[in-house]
Amino acid sequence: MSAKYFINDHDEHILQANFGTRAIHAGQHPDPVTGAVIPPLSLSTTFKQHGAGEHNGFDYSRSGNPSRQAFEFAVAALEGAKYGLAFSSGSATTATIVSSLPSGSHIVSVNDVYGGTYRYFTKVASALGVEVTFVDLKDASSIAAAFRPNTKLVWVETPTNPTLRLVDIKAVAEIAHKHNTKLVVDNTFMSPFFQSPLELGADIVVHSVTKYINGHSDVVMGVAVTSDEQIYTKLAFLQNSIGAVPSAFDCFLANRGLKTLHLRMRQHATSAQAIAEALEASPRVENVIYPGLPSHPQHDLAKRQQRGFGGMISFRIKGDLATANAFLRNVKFFTLAESLGGVESLCELPATMTHGSVSAEDRAALGITENLIRLSVGIEDTEDLVADVLAALEAAVKL
Ligand SMILES: *Cc1c(COP(=O)(O)O)cnc(C)c1O
Repeated sequence: MSAKYFINDHDEHILQANFGTRAIHAGQHPDPVTGAVIPPLSLSTTFKQHGAGEHNGFDYSRSGNPSRQAFEFAVAALEGAKYGLAFSSGSATTATIVSSLPSGSHIVSVNDVYGGTYRYFTKVASALGVEVTFVDLKDASSIAAAFRPNTKLVWVETPTNPTLRLVDIKAVAEIAHKHNTKLVVDNTFMSPFFQSPLELGADIVVHSVTKYINGHSDVVMGVAVTSDEQIYTKLAFLQNSIGAVPSAFDCFLANRGLKTLHLRMRQHATSAQAIAEALEASPRVENVIYPGLPSHPQHDLAKRQQRGFGGMISFRIKGDLATANAFLRNVKFFTLAESLGGVESLCELPATMTHGSVSAEDRAALGITENLIRLSVGIEDTEDLVADVLAALEAAVKL
């Protein structure tokens, strides 16, 4: 499968351009036959060959599809990677990467990874003979003790969910490489706009495209990018062999969403900062967790490692589960629902929703209390969102 179809004389210019220009142009060349400015959605499962084995770079749609390739090329360009591979979900991306390890391998993972990743590591990877050790990475150097001779992968997510703890990617990358181990960073929460893990030393970056990259809450998809040709070749082989590929239609939609990623991320972060500050100033709030606040214990690391603070906020309302529920019922522009990263604002209660399957003991250790509320700040007007949150607080918490 060749990437030639989308490469023309302008590609070097595109790859060197700023983020928004890359988001709009990478992989998006007008159709050479019709001149269509938007590359057409390519639904065909098979491709005509000129002679046996002679074709234009595509033979069968699981192995390679023009709409998928355009999307993969675009995400790679945004992450500063050479290669991108799309999968049917963020979870399928994780599963495919774990499948690339020989049985008997060992993974070191940050302890508060995404719930589905935790479930895969503890319930599925173990059945494949891959063992995972979870470590608290508040201090990056604490990872060193977890390495074993068979450690093949370090898995990191930053900021974590829902307590928005940061991991120092550069420090972890250095330790991982000293132990001859590859580093995977799940960059879903920051998106390529705010954080570039490959530049900080990561070997693979993964995303749940379902969140910010698609950004419109209407596609489930995942992607992995890397500049390491060996890793790419292995994962491309597995993408085709396992076959957990996204539909061409979803690739088309996600590519359309990605073109406004820079605009959306700026707005998510502007509003999140305003809401975080309003929450912190409220007597109805116990504490606010947002990397953009100086009160965040890793605010300095956030400033160093990220180009912005993102659209996710967690806060503890003054009260109990009932108070939290009263808040969630009273907001008007935040829909009570799981997931994140869409244009619309969402709110949820991690203890009983996204992290309900985490044991009470682990929830306590991670600080996922029953008054902890998570907000995914959308791109509605900032003033409306701030007013909405303050009004719901007033209705929920009687002083
Ligand atoms: C949602 C999410 C995933 C899983 O992605 P799916 O597309 O839902 O399979 C992985 N990591 C993070 C950080 C997520 O938020």
